Amino acid sequence: MEKVYFIGAGPGDPELITVKGKRLIEEADVIVYAGSLVNPQVFAGAKPGAELYNSAGMTLPEVVEVMRQAVVGGKRVVRLHTGDPSVYGAHREQMAELERLGIPYEVVPGVSSFVAAAAALRREYTLPGVSQSVILTRMEGRTAVPEREQIEALAAHQSSMVIFLSIGAIEELAARLRSGGYPADTPVAVVYKASWPDEKIVRGDLSDIAGKVREAGITKTALVTVGRFLGDEFECSKLYDETFSHGYRQGGDKGCGYGI
Ligand code: SAH
Repeated sequence: MEKVYFIGAGPGDPELITVKGKRLIEEADVIVYAGSLVNPQVFAGAKPGAELYNSAGMTLPEVVEVMRQAVVGGKRVVRLHTGDPSVYGAHREQMAELERLGIPYEVVPGVSSFVAAAAALRREYTLPGVSQSVILTRMEGRTAVPEREQIEALAAHQSSMVIFLSIGAIEELAARLRSGGYPADTPVAVVYKASWPDEKIVRGDLSDIAGKVREAGITKTALVTVGRFLGDEFECSKLYDETFSHGYRQGGDKGCGYGI
């Protein structure tokens, strides 16, 4: 029996897909893609006869029916999700339906937009002495967020934070991040369409980012990144620290840090 391959299509740049994902696209008989965000260039290498479906205008039962019919008919299906399907991908419900129907599937991960954003910003989310955690979250929209995960509660940790699906409410978001515990001067960078040709970056802090985002006219397809990881103060890692000995190396006596 053929299979459904769920593939992370990456954040936009058609070269930011895995080698495996690219090969499976080239071999697919049917491709179902999330048309609102997947760059069509990602499936430019599809077979000439491949059937294409844009899931943007389809319901879950419709998507599942296309997949079922194809696989039962001996066709290979690729289901393309933006970034990686495990982050706000509405992915689990599709897997659950396929399991219920006994249709085999495999998942091929992709480059999520939050990692593409770090690359665009040339920053590392996990800096010694700054933060060792990354919170991926969103504000509630049509989808609710559990009470214990409200922005204020997460902001109390002052870790590196990446907020999806919330750029349209940037004023409220900035206010809630502040009231939750981040100081007003906490750096914020908004990355619009990371890795696309029209990528844009807006930098500021919690007190001025909303105005700057409005000025730039950004209302969708953007991530809000927050935290001192965006700043210039951090300690060096222990891994490459000259004073630190480990299994592979004997330490010396010089410490290391930037801006501190
Ligand atoms: N599965 C995707 C996320 C889908 S939810 C992933 O792993 O990236 C859609 C949201 O992701 C958008 O509202 C936006 O917040 C973010 N997003 C997706 N692609 C993006 C990109 N190239 N640049 C910035 N944000 C992006």
